Amino acid sequence: MKLKIAIQKSGRLHEDSMRLLKECGIDISNGGNKLKTSAANFPLEVYFLRDDDIPQYVEDAVADAGIVGENVVYEKKKEVEVLEQLGFGKCRLSIAVGRNENYDIKGLNGKRIATSYPVILQEYLDKNNINAEIHEISGSVEIAPGIGLAEAICDLVSSGSTLLTNGLKEAETILHSQAVLIQNKRLDTEKQQLLQRLLFRIRSVKQAKNNKYILLNAPNEKLKEIISLLPGMKSPTVLPLAESGWSSVHSVIDENDFWNIIEQLKTAGAQGILVVPIEKMIL
Ligand code: ATP
Ligand code: MG
Repeated sequence: MKLKIAIQKSGRLHEDSMRLLKECGIDISNGGNKLKTSAANFPLEVYFLRDDDIPQYVEDAVADAGIVGENVVYEKKKEVEVLEQLGFGKCRLSIAVGRNENYDIKGLNGKRIATSYPVILQEYLDKNNINAEIHEISGSVEIAPGIGLAEAICDLVSSGSTLLTNGLKEAETILHSQAVLIQNKRLDTEKQQLLQRLLFRIRSVKQAKNNKYILLNAPNEKLKEIISLLPGMKSPTVLPLAESGWSSVHSVIDENDFWNIIEQLKTAGAQGILVVPIEKMIL
């Protein structure tokens, strides 16, 4: 028995999805032009599909699980369960209008909006009591205003440079999105257990990325103050240095607190501070 997982065949999510599986210790050949491939060291079969199709395949149990953008999950409205945000494929779904226009959401009343996300957009317009005409197009949405098809667009944005080159500006974000792990809602026990094993590995990889291992030297009289700055997983490890009166302190810190804590540690008298990446972190 193998767990079947669907990932994007090619495109923005493909490489990060493959990398995530690899970081989970799962050995898969690139697949090349193949539709599916098996892992050598985990009961996993990987299907390579168009991202738009992944929610449907997971609902239908053709695949047991999948990796896809939240934008696609919400647009397709399939019966799938979102298990975990994966931290890559980050983008936002935004309304954009001509660069020189003064945007106000009420101004969209009676206008035409081009988008590949008619479901999410319609919900947003309804919620705001806006009556606009949605034109669904499947690609190159950003050119719609230029060719007179619409007055506004609703499209995925990451840097905003595509909008700029098309004379548009981002006016309002309606959804923040990233890649997520989804699953079929009716997996049997064995598959559910395999998926839990995979999820456990994914969480360990994610945890590790958010944390750093820190080593530093401290004069013993400053130890108390320095330790109070370091939360650690339980409490920091303290080892005596060969030079008397000094100790080496080891701990784990959150990536986001990093620079703040480093400055405080230096002020408190820490020396020779090393910060190293963590590969896996099991909690
Ligand atoms: P497919 O051939 O699989 O249908 P696609 O062309 O629909 O591919 P991509 O452009 O590869 O899709 O984007 C896949 C996903 O990557 C998007 O649905 C979104 O979740 C995410 N993404 C991240 N940043 C961006 C961005 N700047 N523009 C578009 N999508 C982005
Ligand atoms: Mg697609």
